[in-house]
Amino acid sequence: MTRIGFVGLGNMGGPMCGHLVSAGHEISAFDLNSEALSRLAGAGARAADSVADCARGAEVLITMLPAPPQVEAVWLGDGGAMAELAPGSIAIDMSTSSVAVGSRVVAAASERGVDVLDAPVAGQSIGAQAGTLAIYVGGDAAVFERARPLFDAMGDPARVFHLGPHGAGYTVKLLLNLMWFIEAVAVGEVLTVGVRAGVSLERLHAALVGSPANSVFLERDVRMVLDDGDYDEAFPMRLVTKDLGLAVDLAREVGVPAELTALVEQIHRRARNVYGDDAGEISAVRLYEDLAGVQLRLPPS
Ligand code: NAD
Repeated sequence: MTRIGFVGLGNMGGPMCGHLVSAGHEISAFDLNSEALSRLAGAGARAADSVADCARGAEVLITMLPAPPQVEAVWLGDGGAMAELAPGSIAIDMSTSSVAVGSRVVAAASERGVDVLDAPVAGQSIGAQAGTLAIYVGGDAAVFERARPLFDAMGDPARVFHLGPHGAGYTVKLLLNLMWFIEAVAVGEVLTVGVRAGVSLERLHAALVGSPANSVFLERDVRMVLDDGDYDEAFPMRLVTKDLGLAVDLAREVGVPAELTALVEQIHRRARNVYGDDAGEISAVRLYEDLAGVQLRLPPS
């Protein structure tokens, strides 16, 4: 049994924290949203009244927050978590955040003798609820092993990856999202051009799936749109564009020209402007449909 503080009880953090309660840990939880906090209190966590209260006495403090500004504020701001942690405790950020903010957290932690892991996730809120998330961890290998039972309780143990030193988790998470959102643009563009050129969507899709151009996005994920007109609101465009902006920043920080990344980020940003912050993550495909005046729908199978 570990004394754990958990800050950020939204679509992802709420169920993840719930799994830690179910695994028998002593949990102190906090969120600015009182409804989210009450849900966890109902599940058996202690409802803390501030970040500092949540962190005080924790052996492990976990955050699952929207973006780098909230991560920085919760760890390092006034009344932040780091100042409450004792030497030897572990600070884990599971948000999709930046290496730059992560480095500032590591610097503050090393002054206090606190260990740090970055551990962002993939698998959506369905995976968070089911406890089947993939988890991408950066930080010291021995610290990873100490925290591993907690990751196994929140994710699929076969897909809990230790990827290298601090920042490696954030980096891999941003890159896997980038690949997927590049695919979304590529598939939206190719399918609308093909349909406008007069090929049936059904035959075009089947031919592409059976070709060297196939991908998981083309074969599986875009089927939500093609079969049901569902653009997947489980992951909203406000988070999509946040992640893609962080990928552009990452490329810039390491000095790699990344023209495609920048262009793809702008296309998704346009889709967010057109369809709204809460529109589904595949809205870029909808942008192509609307620009081309076609609806990409397969006949019922
Ligand atoms: P969310 O907006 O549902 O939840 C974030 C929570 O953080 C909210 O409840 C909010 O009240 C709380 N919060 C914000 N600032 C706070 C502060 N200063 N103090 C305390 N609480 C604060 O977001 P989410 O969907 O749970 O995503 C969390 C992270 O996980 C993001 O970085 C996101 O990119 C990443 N992620 C999300 C998904 C997904 O499918 N939703 C999948 C993988 C990764």
